Amino acid sequence: MSGLNDLLYKETYGERDIETLLSLRTPEDVEKLRARANEVLGEYVGDSVYYRGIVEFSNICALDCHYCGIRKSNKQVERYSLDRDTVVSSALWCAGQGYGSVVLQSGERRDPAFIDYVEDLICEIKRITVSDKLPEGVGITLSVGEQSLETYRRFFAAGAHRYLLRIETTDEALYQSLHPASQKLEERKLCLGFLKEAGFQVGSGVMIGSPGQTTAMLARDILFFKEQDIDMIGMGPYLVHNQSPMASKGQMEKSELLQLSLNMIAVCRIVLKDVNIAATTALQAVVSDGRERGLSYGANVTMPNITPTEVRSSYKLYEGKPCMDEGRQECRSCLLGRVRSIGRDVAFDQWGDSKHFAARKTGTARTV
Ligand code: SAH
Repeated sequence: MSGLNDLLYKETYGERDIETLLSLRTPEDVEKLRARANEVLGEYVGDSVYYRGIVEFSNICALDCHYCGIRKSNKQVERYSLDRDTVVSSALWCAGQGYGSVVLQSGERRDPAFIDYVEDLICEIKRITVSDKLPEGVGITLSVGEQSLETYRRFFAAGAHRYLLRIETTDEALYQSLHPASQKLEERKLCLGFLKEAGFQVGSGVMIGSPGQTTAMLARDILFFKEQDIDMIGMGPYLVHNQSPMASKGQMEKSELLQLSLNMIAVCRIVLKDVNIAATTALQAVVSDGRERGLSYGANVTMPNITPTEVRSSYKLYEGKPCMDEGRQECRSCLLGRVRSIGRDVAFDQWGDSKHFAARKTGTARTV
């Protein structure tokens, strides 16, 4: 494409610029995009990869997102909730392995018992993971959905300091087609604001390739992340779950879905610069080396699964989720091999916080 070099080095990006970059498909153009993303990665955040050991501690969910395998109405799922000892000992295992951070993820509940439970988990994990290497314990990222400002404040006070809440899409009509009428895009936006107010490093992201989504919508999603000063990005390809109401709508052809997802990572790196970006598990559901590819397009975070093997298959958000029969030890060595296979290395015993967060706190953001 003529003019691509100029586009890759622009100071500010508009919707059309981003759309053009997301649409690149010839091998030469895609390689230029990937190379530029890596250049920005090296310049702004460095090429270390940070681990977040993820514990999917419960699949009980009060919501009914049309795309999700563990939605409330899916009666075929065997529901579970891990007990305190199991979750806390998983976090301790992470600390022992040198994973500087954990993610606690679950279905969505807003009842007081759940909130108390999560708060208690955070306090206990913080307490028992303090060591010489991690003087403040492991870093805790939460991914437990939409909650009140008061609840977010309690979780933050207990010691969690990052939170993932995907916007899924910023397009009003698409959002509504993905969710029941009771779930509103405005609510989700409000929650992202609450998270910031409560002091969290805020992560968001979208499902890529959901039915009805256009490249222009994805471009506007990236501009939204920029406007909202989002610190961390976690995005993944949309994949069908056979027991969901969206199954009949099908999914994007896999090679196109993969390239679009990789381009999203690269363009987020180029436009947002100093944020953390995850190479998510869903990429590996599209192609076996999906996560390495995500890293090689500018991602710098990945999440080894430490959920006990017995319950993994009950936390199936989409078909083809990988690593279902494996244990945390296997996931450890497998993922390390994957990261090293592309010439990168894992930064052990570090939280690996978002540089964007540090910059927005001190007012020294290098965003342009
Ligand atoms: N309940 C929490 C966390 C679990 S879901 C929450 O909603 O934040 C985490 C993410 O999984 C969602 O944000 C969604 O983007 C993704 N997800 C769910 N179903 C999916 C599917 N069928 N394909 C791809 N991603 C999916």
